[in-house]
Amino acid sequence: MTFTLAIVGRPNVGKSTLFNRLVGKKLALVDDQPGVTRDLREGEGRIADLRFTVIDSAGLEEATDDSLQGRMRRLTERAVEMADVCLFMIDARTGVLPADEVFADILRKKNAHVILAANKGEGKAADASILEAYALGLGEPIRMSAEHGEGMGELLDMLRPIAEAQAEQAAADAPEVDVDVGDDDEDAARVPTKSKPLQIAVVGRPNAGKSTLINQIIGEERLLTGPEAGITRDAISVQQDWGGVPMRIFDTAGMRKKAKVQEKIEKLSVSDGLRAVKFAEVVVVLLDVEIPFEQQDLRIADLAEREGRAVVVAVNKWDIEGDKQVKLKKLREDFERLLPQLRGAPLVTVSAKTGKGLDRLQQAIMRAHEVWNRRVTTAHLNRWLTGMLEQHPPPAPGGKRIRMRYMTQVKTRPPAFVVMTSHPDMMPDSYKRYLVNGLRADFDMPGTPIRLFLRDQG
Ligand code: GDP
Ligand code: GDP
Repeated sequence: MTFTLAIVGRPNVGKSTLFNRLVGKKLALVDDQPGVTRDLREGEGRIADLRFTVIDSAGLEEATDDSLQGRMRRLTERAVEMADVCLFMIDARTGVLPADEVFADILRKKNAHVILAANKGEGKAADASILEAYALGLGEPIRMSAEHGEGMGELLDMLRPIAEAQAEQAAADAPEVDVDVGDDDEDAARVPTKSKPLQIAVVGRPNAGKSTLINQIIGEERLLTGPEAGITRDAISVQQDWGGVPMRIFDTAGMRKKAKVQEKIEKLSVSDGLRAVKFAEVVVVLLDVEIPFEQQDLRIADLAEREGRAVVVAVNKWDIEGDKQVKLKKLREDFERLLPQLRGAPLVTVSAKTGKGLDRLQQAIMRAHEVWNRRVTTAHLNRWLTGMLEQHPPPAPGGKRIRMRYMTQVKTRPPAFVVMTSHPDMMPDSYKRYLVNGLRADFDMPGTPIRLFLRDQG
């Protein structure tokens, strides 16, 4: 499995030239006359060791009348819909033209993942256009020369995380990770489904109730009950519709049982947890109401955050708690104090044994997943940034004013943002926190890690 890159932009900026370079053959026609090629073409692209599918949308003629504009728009839209990521190319020699705005609009409307490239960037003449390109509000442009092969390293840097995310997804979907735990059920977990299941890991200290919870969800005693449990070091998963939503649930209890034998419980359960966390989109940290927020719980929750997973905290064995109101208040306080990095993450109380609270847990998981996948438009973000800067201007360390110009979301799962700023090294952490907390509150993104990167705008 690989990703698809679409090259879009107005005629004559150099799309086919880049396509040829990536594909390595003269598949597309290059010509000084705009719009020689007429349709979308597809090829196998390569930079260094990275392989992907490229779509060239260079089949566009100069938009001289309405029908041509319409055709241009449709073709670009089609390319955008087919792609995982769009390389939006402008010509650094001419600078940003009104026609470029048409494409920028399409990309914004389609909510596309955009890499901006200023082509024909060889030589000093391009400097001004590079700065202009920031104003498109589509992030930091790559300076590139498709003809001379410049800027390929930067392009590679931006494509690599996309490839990695895909590989991770593929690994998580791979049948090898499914372990059938001694029952005669027809390998339900290996049957591919049409809609991709939501990947959940249930982690927590031994005896928190992970197996009980999963058994309750899948509604039968088929998980990790036999003596074979724990013979494998692989993550064990089951796929199950939960509230009508396909989910794949990873469990680590099997390894825990093996760990017990080896008397290295703590150490092993953290590395088991790590494996499950890596597979997951949403991590459910299951706490035991009698001993919540133990060192081990904190470590695994922190790990999930650092790995960029959506997190839901579930407090189990709620059935045995006497003073529920007082306890809940105390739990929330402890949560805020001990796991500030997970601010806003949902905390739900459940009883794996009786099944009480599991519907709320399911809701919290779905919502966390949705937030984790959320994309905020660049236009929206920049309006927001202006407001934030006005409300509370950045400090001026040593008299040097920190100027922040543009902001864009570069990634989802978890949401990641780039702010173009002067003096990124001088930005105090407190100001970064101000922005991250603001994003969380204003765009309603509780309980998901938010990444904020500062780039020197030069
Ligand atoms: P498309 O219409 O966007 O596909 O553009 P083409 O790939 O057909 O390129 C249009 C013209 O720009 C051709 O004459 C190319 O040789 C030229 N061109 C493409 N890339 C570069 C570059 O990096 N530098 C310079 N100077 N010219 C380029
Ligand atoms: P794991 O090690 O995290 O997989 O934990 P288990 O699922 O094996 O559960 C450990 C113990 O806690 C077992 O004795 C369960 O019966 C008990 N347990 C699990 N969930 C609950 C619950 O919701 N309420 C109560 N009272 N006991 C529970």
